Amino acid sequence: MQSRVAIVGAGLSGLAAGYHLMTAGLSPIVFEAEDFVGGRSSSEEVDGFIIDKAAYTWPEFHRNLTAFLDQLGLENDLVPTPGTSSTWRGHQEFSVKIGSPRDFLGYKLLSFKDKLDMIRLYLTAAARGRALNLAAPTATSFRLETETAATFLKRKYGENILEDIAYPICAEIFLGTPETNSRLAFLATLKNLAWFKIFSLTQGMGTVAERMGRDLDVRLASPVRQVTPLSAEGPYHLDVGGERPGKHEFDAVILAVPAPLVPRIFRVCSPALTKYFENVEYAPSIVVALALDRRRPDTSFINNLLRQDHRVVATLTFDLHKGPRRCPPDKGLATAVLSAAASRDLMDAPDDRVSHEVLAEVDRSWPGFSGDLLFSRVYRWEHGAIQLGPGAIRRRHQAARALDAGQGNVFFAGDGVLKSSLEIAFNSGVRAAEKVLGHLGGPWAKDRPDVRPGPPG
Ligand SMILES: Cc1cc2nc3c(=O)[nH]c(=O)nc-3n(C[C@H](O)[C@H](O)[C@H](O)COP(=O)(O)OP(=O)(O)OC[C@H]3O[C@@H](n4cnc5c(N)ncnc54)[C@H](O)[C@@H]3O)c2cc1C
Repeated sequence: MQSRVAIVGAGLSGLAAGYHLMTAGLSPIVFEAEDFVGGRSSSEEVDGFIIDKAAYTWPEFHRNLTAFLDQLGLENDLVPTPGTSSTWRGHQEFSVKIGSPRDFLGYKLLSFKDKLDMIRLYLTAAARGRALNLAAPTATSFRLETETAATFLKRKYGENILEDIAYPICAEIFLGTPETNSRLAFLATLKNLAWFKIFSLTQGMGTVAERMGRDLDVRLASPVRQVTPLSAEGPYHLDVGGERPGKHEFDAVILAVPAPLVPRIFRVCSPALTKYFENVEYAPSIVVALALDRRRPDTSFINNLLRQDHRVVATLTFDLHKGPRRCPPDKGLATAVLSAAASRDLMDAPDDRVSHEVLAEVDRSWPGFSGDLLFSRVYRWEHGAIQLGPGAIRRRHQAARALDAGQGNVFFAGDGVLKSSLEIAFNSGVRAAEKVLGHLGGPWAKDRPDVRPGPPG
């Protein structure tokens, strides 16, 4: 008899779980609150412009996800970007190629002393070795996360490194600040940046989710209000709202939603897990896509705006660097990711006001920019990216066993299991699906058929 498995959330983690179960021969149902798949890994085409609504880079160390592209027949969609990055102080641009130590030595944003400090800081990170593996922390890791990155840098290196290096890195990687992330999280990130190459999906970052969504039974606009166990090991009643409300019964459930939402949906979650999920801190994030009447290839792919001069925009990317198919001929597209503070302030503001504030700031660095605007689109993410503040990795480590074991036949996926990243979301979904298969026993536990998807439709 087919086991009935439900997945709550059609972000990358939920879809990865669904796909893994489907490949094993099951027919899971994925419930999604929104009317699109992919969550923070989605894109849309508007008048020939391909807009990434949230995630916009595919770093080369997303290895499992990259291997999975082959399975989907999407390997040719992955294209390298030039990986160029600029930091803007006022009107002045300072560019450096990410992952190029030679470029870094000529980087004019930093004084000679600051460069020496950066080298020292990098060597400090490199020397920490295994302690910087956030998924398998050691006693040293816990010692490194007793203070914020900001406190550490002010104590040991000074304001310039904090403002010109740590802030842009934290804004870009964590969508947060050195005040909301620990010394451990910052050093772990810094260590990776030295060899980081950036790729993108030429048809939009949502391509993978859309492709998976086509093969799976996904119920869009179907928010799950409650998951209620009928006994400790299930079955489970899912109370679904939205366009087709109803109650459905399942043998196993995977919750693939941002961490703080888990105890709201699964109210009988154990006290230890509830405490863990409620304490995972996310920075909100607003993304504004700006479609332009002319090409603007004139600057780096990623542009970091320093918070001393720019309160609203943290990062501005020029999408043509993601491949020529992103815009119609002779047009341009730029995407602004707002700072955590501005995202918080503007989360409920009308779209017009958000776009207006973004353009006023962008015009200061790129004079005349708003004169070329065709249209803008605003995307809001209440749970944008996880902040790894002091104690976050210790809390995660303490909850690891319970997170992995699940509760009865309810399992957890999503970036909330560690930190925000497409690869982590994907891996967490596959892992939760494996747990379901193990628990259901019978034919699903072993000798699973290798059902591969057909060519892209
Ligand atoms: C602006 C931005 C830029 C980013 N850039 C990058 C990047 O460049 N590279 C990178 O690796 N990562 C990046 N990230 C992080 C990455 O996007 C996320 O870590 C990842 O996509 C999370 O996937 P997920 O499946 O865990 O969660 P989500 O994508 O949030 O999916 C959860 C899904 O659950 C749905 N849902 C919620 N509640 C319910 C409910 N009650 N019932 C049914 N459905 C529900 C949501 O609508 C959503 O679709 C970025 C994030 C943001 C916000």
